[in-house]
Amino acid sequence: MTSTSPQPPIVRVALPVPLGRSFDYLGQTGRQYQRGSRVQVPFGQRQLVGLVLEQAEHSEQDPRKLKAVTALLDSEPLLDPQLLQLLEFCARYYQSPLGETISTALPALLRQGQQPQAAAKQLLQLSQEGQGLPEGALAKAKKQAELLALLQQQAQDKTQLKAANIGSPIIKALIDKGLAQWRQQPLATLAPCAQALRQPSLALNDEQQAALDQLRYHQFGCYLIEGTTGSGKTEVYLQAIEACLVAGRQALVLIPEIGLTPQTLARFEQRFNCSVVAIHSGLNDRERLQAWTMARAGQAGVVIGTRSAIFTPMAALGIIIIDEEHDLSFKQQDGVRYSARDLAVYRARQLDIPIVLGTATPALETLHNAINGRYQHLRLTHRAGNAKPPSLSCQDIRQQSLLGGLSADSLSAIGDTLAAGNQVLVFLNRRGYAPSLMCHHCGWVAQCQHCSARMTLHRRQHQLRCHHCEASAREPLQCPACFSRELIGQGYGTERTEQTLGEHFSDHKIIRIDRDTTRGKKAMQNKLAQIEQGQPCILLGTQMLAKGHHFPDVTLVVIVDADGGLFSGDFRGPERMGQLITQVAGRAGRADKPGRVIIQSHHAEHPLLQTLLQQGYHLFARQLLRERQLAQMPPYRHLALLHCDSPKPEAAEHFLQNLRHWLEQAQAPSPALMYLGPFPAPMEKRKRMFRYQLQFNAAERAQLQGLLSQLKAHLEQSKLPAKMRCSLDVDPLDMM
Ligand code: ADP
Ligand code: ZN
Ligand code: ZN
Repeated sequence: MTSTSPQPPIVRVALPVPLGRSFDYLGQTGRQYQRGSRVQVPFGQRQLVGLVLEQAEHSEQDPRKLKAVTALLDSEPLLDPQLLQLLEFCARYYQSPLGETISTALPALLRQGQQPQAAAKQLLQLSQEGQGLPEGALAKAKKQAELLALLQQQAQDKTQLKAANIGSPIIKALIDKGLAQWRQQPLATLAPCAQALRQPSLALNDEQQAALDQLRYHQFGCYLIEGTTGSGKTEVYLQAIEACLVAGRQALVLIPEIGLTPQTLARFEQRFNCSVVAIHSGLNDRERLQAWTMARAGQAGVVIGTRSAIFTPMAALGIIIIDEEHDLSFKQQDGVRYSARDLAVYRARQLDIPIVLGTATPALETLHNAINGRYQHLRLTHRAGNAKPPSLSCQDIRQQSLLGGLSADSLSAIGDTLAAGNQVLVFLNRRGYAPSLMCHHCGWVAQCQHCSARMTLHRRQHQLRCHHCEASAREPLQCPACFSRELIGQGYGTERTEQTLGEHFSDHKIIRIDRDTTRGKKAMQNKLAQIEQGQPCILLGTQMLAKGHHFPDVTLVVIVDADGGLFSGDFRGPERMGQLITQVAGRAGRADKPGRVIIQSHHAEHPLLQTLLQQGYHLFARQLLRERQLAQMPPYRHLALLHCDSPKPEAAEHFLQNLRHWLEQAQAPSPALMYLGPFPAPMEKRKRMFRYQLQFNAAERAQLQGLLSQLKAHLEQSKLPAKMRCSLDVDPLDMM
């Protein structure tokens, strides 16, 4: 007997497993499994949440062996077709499994199968009792009376309360007295509105206006705003966003991990009437889901987030802005190694909307695109308002005696600045007391046993710590080789310089900002608040200080050591050095006071350093571009790195050697496609693993992509020796 009953549909699913293929399941007859919806399915012994890619009629697998879908979790697709397409592109381009890529993009609670929840706004309003109070009540408690008066006008949300400077104790007091209460109000979705602003925008200067006038809102275009620090890029972003909000469209703003300070967020919240949501690593799972949901439903007008926010679904996205586009944190360095900046350009093209990349120090890739006309190049050459550019000088510190890493001249400049009532920023990109510990008698150096790295001395805790793995040990009292007691810390870290500065300028506060001093949740905020008070003091810190902050009272910046990038093992070393120096220098004199920057160097005459100081970052970068072209490196060529880590160095090298032979059969080496390696990574050993690399350098992206997908398929089928790990990095930024 032939059955006429319809077949159950085949449901093709992407699962969060490290395999490059999708999986087929049997759906329920008559049910629709829409692309972009989640399903729960059995996988081995487990149940997994996956995403439906399509509903098909046939499977290449034997239908009798297919397992049934356990549950359909979404009646409407969770991800819209364009977002799913973006994720598919990401998986293809970075050679990572689609299921894992999707999983990177989803908030944890959605990965676990929970439902997105409709967002509501918390409003503080008067209770019945509160409404009955006469005007001018609570006169004895001034702040409470103030709040009461506000609420008598209208209910207030948290942003409004914050803007009115009403703290939570005051709110609590009123609630405890039974006079006020919180109410949930469902959020409206964004609609075109003439009144997008809460606070008026600034009158733009000519350059800002010219940049803003170039933007076209209803078509794809990539714009590089290259503007010196303090030139008012953010003001241009804000006004571009305003134009979108007025038209009822949303904005997505990506900023570096470290740049998401309360200051930045406040600036956006204060400006716009709509909800501004932030997506960053400080959110808990529930908050993250809430922000995601608001963006997707169109309740949030502006979404500000770090790297992974590029995957946020947005109901009506109208513009993407990447601030500090050169920043390394936009590239994920493990798992799915995507570049949020590059994906953002894809997304803007897909949606036919503008994308703005802003920075004082464009990445060479971006600058190259601007110079050759693929991006529109907008420049802001002077500072907004009254601020003047800082004056830069390089100080040759060869043969000078240094105190805490600082020359006598630097110390006296710091003293003068403090005496004049201003603040100083001392930049030193190494935390700890000293980057290594050496025996003065026999030359023994404390090495990490698991990494090719020296242990950093942390004197206050009497510890040696490796900054590349978890290893730590007590600071030895004697040399383990010769038993001498003369052990000396070599070089300078922030802890050591802090000590010197403390002894030298005992009347002033030293505010140290590095990963060791900002561990607590509020630590960074507290430190920034201290700086904001404007008292003369010294800020001392690592690159955490270099980015995005606005320190109006800093008039002197001292860069303790500019030399690292000149002789780095990474071909991007000089580019990074130029960006870092320019960014740090840009912290000086941002308000009305003129600034000054002292750069200490052992190579003061180095031509690159001189170009940077005398001609500025833009011409420095153009010189680096010429060098890259000669060296056949990005952005003129395209790179990919295959990493292979193994506890046995020979095993890694051998594996990559074989792989190279295999690949050369598939695609013969040529000037258009060069194979380099295998060679040990610049940092050969890390966390007990020996690290080898095979590098690919291609003239055309397409050819490289072809090779990489062959490689990926081959790797998936190969059985790797025990404990060996391979990973592929397309457009790598970190070569170490
Ligand atoms: P950037 O983002 O380029 O570092 P910002 O937008 O933060 O610069 O601007 C630096 C400072 O200049 C801020 O204090 C800002 O309020 C101020 N500013 C920006 N544009 C103007 C303007 N057109 N007129 C007056 N002040 C401005
Ligand atoms: Zn010794
Ligand atoms: Zn280590």
